[in-house]
Amino acid sequence: MSMLPRAIKRFLMISTAAGVALAVPAFAHDDAVPEAKASGAIPAASSMALQPGAAPRRAAGEGSGPFRRLVIRGVTLIDGTGSVPRGPVDIVIEGNRIADIRQAGWPGLPPAQNREPRDADEEIDATGMYVLPGFVDLHTHLPGKDKAPDASYAYKLWLAHGVTTVRGVPLGPPAFVSNEKARSARNEIVAPRMFNYQTLGAGWSGGRISSPDKAREWVRWAAKNDIDGIKFFGREDETAAVMTAAIDEAHKNRMGTVAHLSQTGVSNFNGIVAGRAHLDTITHFYGHMESLLKDHTIQKFSPDYNFYNEQYRFSEVADIKDEIYGPDTPEWWDYLKEQKENHVTFDPTFNIYAASRDLMRAKNADWQGRYTTPQLWNYFQSTRDNHGSYFFDWTSQIETKWKGFYQNFFKLIHDYNQIGGRVTVGTDSGFIYKVYGFAYIEELELFQEAGLTPLEIFRSATVNGAKTIMEPKGLEPEFGAVRRGMLADLVVVPENPLNNLKSLYGTGYVRLNPKTNKQERVGGVRYTIKDGIVYDAPKLLADVAAMVDREKQTVPTPVAPPIISPQPLFAAAQSSTAP
Ligand SMILES: [Zn+2]
Repeated sequence: MSMLPRAIKRFLMISTAAGVALAVPAFAHDDAVPEAKASGAIPAASSMALQPGAAPRRAAGEGSGPFRRLVIRGVTLIDGTGSVPRGPVDIVIEGNRIADIRQAGWPGLPPAQNREPRDADEEIDATGMYVLPGFVDLHTHLPGKDKAPDASYAYKLWLAHGVTTVRGVPLGPPAFVSNEKARSARNEIVAPRMFNYQTLGAGWSGGRISSPDKAREWVRWAAKNDIDGIKFFGREDETAAVMTAAIDEAHKNRMGTVAHLSQTGVSNFNGIVAGRAHLDTITHFYGHMESLLKDHTIQKFSPDYNFYNEQYRFSEVADIKDEIYGPDTPEWWDYLKEQKENHVTFDPTFNIYAASRDLMRAKNADWQGRYTTPQLWNYFQSTRDNHGSYFFDWTSQIETKWKGFYQNFFKLIHDYNQIGGRVTVGTDSGFIYKVYGFAYIEELELFQEAGLTPLEIFRSATVNGAKTIMEPKGLEPEFGAVRRGMLADLVVVPENPLNNLKSLYGTGYVRLNPKTNKQERVGGVRYTIKDGIVYDAPKLLADVAAMVDREKQTVPTPVAPPIISPQPLFAAAQSSTAP
């Protein structure tokens, strides 16, 4: 490909008209960047713009703390381990650690007065609210400058939805991520904790990964360069031998591994083969179904199929459901048992392909008008060359096929959880109408649809995510559960999330108040605490809305996002409890 892709041309026109910086296609997604774009078909100058913008420094007033002693009073605790809820409790935080959790009374009785400790520097009266561990998102990318002005767009949306730890696969180029990760660790920026996974060969000057030995060489280099793990795609250079060697070398160097077993390589390295090679995590659905094919070893594709035609790629994906040993067959259970024995984690990212089964819902979601940057919105629109914008002619028939495919996918994740396999929460936002943070809550909803209970879902979202990140390092997680001694990463929410996962959306949800006979908006996250620093979640959302408004001044949206009226406003309960 020597011509500029159409998306670039369109943005060039917009950019010239508006006098803003050149926008270019997305930096990173599973098989997002066609080789031509990645390797020089676009001008060198613009490849710099592929990387995200660094987040601005945390300003005065952005978050408060950490405190010598902070007490959150009167909450019901959902600790992430699968343990039952209990409350009211007072949670004592000293610096960035949870120092104590104390029973503060009895349900239905007035709270005890003058409770210890009484020498707190800061108290949050969260009577009637719920506390969970900060959420972990295992599949993230940052928006490049073509999607948002800087990384704070995603960081704030994540934090506003309770996500305090992200694993980037990758978040951006290695050196950029390493720098942002360190700034976040020092709390110089408003951002979640970061873990830096990178693709084979990223960031070094050693050339192509042309052999298993070369792969091992890169892994050893990566381990010394602040890279926490490897993301595979099963692309051209990633032969079965190369991936097997890289996984082995990664484990020797205490690095983790995760694969999107893309259709380009899955016929030689599917889920079961990956498990036998001790891959740590399979993300998305690719690789599972291909391990369960009944009468052949490669999925049947139509003669016109072409991987670079995304309508084909994403409509025919769903056809595999009729070609496999399905739920409740011996082969199905054998597959799951062997993956469990090999300690493979399943990270389904249900949400990222959910538009395939209901495009209208994805496109018209409540938050698109207010919280989606115009650049990201434009990127979501169908073109032949925007990755994941594959709805060229998306029919009811295709959506029905996808709904059927998801039934099997749901059952697979449910059954794996059921036999004790580890399932985790990841999102892959920035594609296919999925917006950072909001998509995380949708993923929780889809876990419920898959048949997991709320306590199982929150375990997947917290403890399971933390283990998946820390196990390859040989370390016990210090985040992911609310327990004495752990890092103070917490989410404080006004509604009972076990009752309604939708209450966690930044836009809350609307219900009728029986006393007033009027609808009201309730829910949202009230506070997100990371490293003992308290962030006001509605304030983070307001910052993002302001950024989106600013961008709209200069970036037109030829097809405008739906404007959902913000009425009714949040019920007073949410804002009246500010510290
Ligand atoms: Zn991805």
